[in-house]
Amino acid sequence: MDLQLANKVAVVTGGSVGIGLGVARAFAREGAHVLIAARDRARVEEAAAGVAAEFGVTAHGHACDVATAAGCESLIAATRDTFGGLDILVNNAGTGSNETILEAPDEKWQAYWELHVMAAVRLVRGLAPMIAARGGGAVLNNASICATQPLWYEPIYNVTKAALLMLSKNMATELIGQNIRVNTINPGLILTPDWIKTAKELSADSGGDWEGYLQSVADEHAPIKRFGTVEELADFFVFLCSDRASYAVGATYFVDGGMLRTI
Ligand code: NDP
Repeated sequence: MDLQLANKVAVVTGGSVGIGLGVARAFAREGAHVLIAARDRARVEEAAAGVAAEFGVTAHGHACDVATAAGCESLIAATRDTFGGLDILVNNAGTGSNETILEAPDEKWQAYWELHVMAAVRLVRGLAPMIAARGGGAVLNNASICATQPLWYEPIYNVTKAALLMLSKNMATELIGQNIRVNTINPGLILTPDWIKTAKELSADSGGDWEGYLQSVADEHAPIKRFGTVEELADFFVFLCSDRASYAVGATYFVDGGMLRTI
């Protein structure tokens, strides 16, 4: 299937590692140019250089904190300066949490709200006009299965990702008139370096069998009994952002190995 993405421009937040880097690589494999954003400058620039070298596209790494208004502004400016615009925005930057509602301070709720919700608001506000100026395109928001099926140790993550889902639905209706399709993906368990680091930490006191720990997580939560790979998920992102998915608007797609327990 030709996804017709050659020479399109995709901006991916949280694109220096994990799912975001996998998505950037998958776009580049289709011939799209990419601008990836993350806070750690050295890592994001190195990741972009790797994508450019591997796929022969233009890949730019931009260091910014998308959980701040200034960080979003700088990414919007970098998009304009580097590519003169864009066709696709993937709001992917995010991270899990661990707290109780009774103990978590207001500041922690606010920080996750800024990262999971306001980043998408601010970036769409700045970048949607540039997408529209090129005749339209796509915005894809990476929420989580936790947006609808919570993991009880991370209420702030669950709540802010649920808010992103509703934001995405509202964006879709507002932007489709400008030929910008907005959708959401809710991944289940995807094996990223962060999961491996967590597994190593949590299994250190009990013999260090981190792979066994990850298998136990998969066995407990995912009927498919394994984690998904970044590549399995990234292909889904890229398809949804392509014109081959031209009737997909305002929808939420689960890529979770059967983890969702409702219809
Ligand atoms: P990683 O922790 O592996 O990567 C996160 C990326 O986001 C990094 O590039 C990080 O770089 C960047 N990032 C984090 N905070 C900011 C910020 N404030 N501003 C700019 N960039 C930032 O995460 P994953 O790949 O595992 O997850 C990516 C997304 O997928 C997240 O939104 C997550 O909630 C979601 N998800 C993940 C699942 C999984 O199983 N892995 C399942 C469901 C959803 P840096 O630290 O340098 O800023």
